[in-house]
Amino acid sequence: MTRVLPEDLDTRLATRAVHAGQRPEEDPAGAIMTPIYQTSTYQQPALGEHKGFEYARTRNPTRDALERNLAALEGATHGFAFASGMAATDAVLRLLSSGDHVICGDNVYGGTHRIMTMVLERFGLDFSFVDTRDIGNVEAALTERTKMVFVETPTNPMMRLTDIRAAAELCRARDVVLVVDNTFATPVLQRPIELGAEVVVHSTTKYINGHSDVVGGAVLTTSDDLAEQLGFIQNAAGAVPGPLDCWLTLRGIKTLPVRMAQHDRSGRVIAQWAAEHPKVERVYYPGLPDHPQHELACRQMSGFGGMISLELGSLERARAVANGTRLFALAESLGGVESLIGHPASMTHASVPKAMREEMGLSDGLIRLSVGIEDTEDLIADLEQALQATGAA
Ligand SMILES: *Cc1c(COP(=O)(O)O)cnc(C)c1O
Repeated sequence: MTRVLPEDLDTRLATRAVHAGQRPEEDPAGAIMTPIYQTSTYQQPALGEHKGFEYARTRNPTRDALERNLAALEGATHGFAFASGMAATDAVLRLLSSGDHVICGDNVYGGTHRIMTMVLERFGLDFSFVDTRDIGNVEAALTERTKMVFVETPTNPMMRLTDIRAAAELCRARDVVLVVDNTFATPVLQRPIELGAEVVVHSTTKYINGHSDVVGGAVLTTSDDLAEQLGFIQNAAGAVPGPLDCWLTLRGIKTLPVRMAQHDRSGRVIAQWAAEHPKVERVYYPGLPDHPQHELACRQMSGFGGMISLELGSLERARAVANGTRLFALAESLGGVESLIGHPASMTHASVPKAMREEMGLSDGLIRLSVGIEDTEDLIADLEQALQATGAA
């Protein structure tokens, strides 16, 4: 278990991003950067003695630094790094036992839905998927066996929000653990722990690392009891990241606050531009005043980020735009410095039955943008030329 250093909690977010969990090494040269401890084991000075490090599945100094840093960013007291976002979610779900019930948002990441229904149901866990935009639906789904509520906000690609504070109040009253997947917003734009959540999970693959060169995940918590169990599960199951990936992620995080500021700045401008564009039928972005949960977004987020979905009205137009951009690369994933464009119906959400997709508004004409940190005007010009190629509005 990696605990946050108390001095790291004294500082503000941008300072934590650069320094938390890391100290210049004393030996041999005082390196400013945390070294990559590329080792599987550690020499023990004598039988029964060691420096806290015995074997690298259990602990590694580069990973320790990343875990402390991530926990400090989220305002948590304990951090755990994993080999992927899904490994992090899997570890959280392994806190449960056969017979336990989980209430999960119905618009969560596809892989989260998949591990719940296709893997963990076989082990006797029971899942209910509800529309968590209305906390009344969560309350109505609670049973005596409910042990966890798992939400993602904003969701992908429909940009639906869950009121984290209201969910946390409901969970606390029933002794249920609230888990928030904070991958889309990051601790820069949304602070689930300050709003009352006990556990935060991340796919660090996305904004946290931010450079599209590492797959990773993390779990952060304020609960000593859950941290004890999570540390046990992390070591027992062993889905840990290697030291080089931890180091790359630490390096990526140093610029997280400045990157998020630019994603947010461009995201707002591009969403507004798209909302006024005759060839765009609808824009899904929590920062637009006509987003049905804009007021909640203003209350629980300090910015709206760079994820935008556009309804273009038909598969043909979606295809023309997805194939026609030059700066926006057609790719899965999100949150990197470079802009990406995706077609959820045929890419990330292809495994969701068409009827279910349509019910949630995820039509064949929907495209999703991950707005990078390039020049905003260049990005708009790229989208404009791709939209013009779709023909008459
Ligand atoms: C990508 C993603 C995940 C899964 O993370 P991996 O690193 O791909 O395993 C989980 N939740 C959200 C919101 C994601 O975008």
